[in-house]
Amino acid sequence: MVVNGVDIEVERKPIKNLHLAVYPPDGRVHVSAPQSYTDEQIKLFVLKKWIWLVQKRKETTSYIFQNEREYVSGEAHYYKGELYRLKVIRDNTYTFHVEIQGDYINVYVYERTTKENIANILWNWYKEQITPTIELYVAKWENILGVKVAEWTVQQMQSSWGKCHKDTGKIMFNLQLAKKPLNCIEYVVAHELTHLIEQNHTDKFRHILGTYLPGWQKIKEQLNEFPL
Ligand SMILES: [Zn+2]
Repeated sequence: MVVNGVDIEVERKPIKNLHLAVYPPDGRVHVSAPQSYTDEQIKLFVLKKWIWLVQKRKETTSYIFQNEREYVSGEAHYYKGELYRLKVIRDNTYTFHVEIQGDYINVYVYERTTKENIANILWNWYKEQITPTIELYVAKWENILGVKVAEWTVQQMQSSWGKCHKDTGKIMFNLQLAKKPLNCIEYVVAHELTHLIEQNHTDKFRHILGTYLPGWQKIKEQLNEFPL
């Protein structure tokens, strides 16, 4: 359904009330509606919430999607759910490394290093940090669900936290997860591994996930609302 030029996904389910949600990374709008509601009623509901919706889409896209950074000292960066300040320390040696010191992420770089280089150094560091964390969760959830992951990778992804190919057993995790709280990272691992049993987000999928990770819906909300 399209309202004021905005695509609205409508999903009818056995629920009592209408529910409107806006999701990253692109401000996708989703309405869950009771089965008896007509398109007209849903449209009216969306229009009533229009001001909220426009505001929410703006926030979602600016905080979560457009992850523009300058990579200068003082800038806020998240790591495993905690807020840190970046400290860029330049010298004339060609070595670089990253370390956490108190509330700071210190990045040691060559004095004329570009912003793009600092970004790369930092993303590589995030990848090194997040890989063992995901490894632990993958092993844990392989056990819980009785599945086997053929291969998994961590990489920059544009529009989802993870992707699972059931037939090949291959899973991709979004590198941006390194910024999220650990319970959110674990949720994504559990979610993707559940896809090895059930490809789609069916009732069966939700049932399996709900059995082993009760309250996953709340964690999913936390994940999507958490800033990058
Ligand atoms: Zn999924």
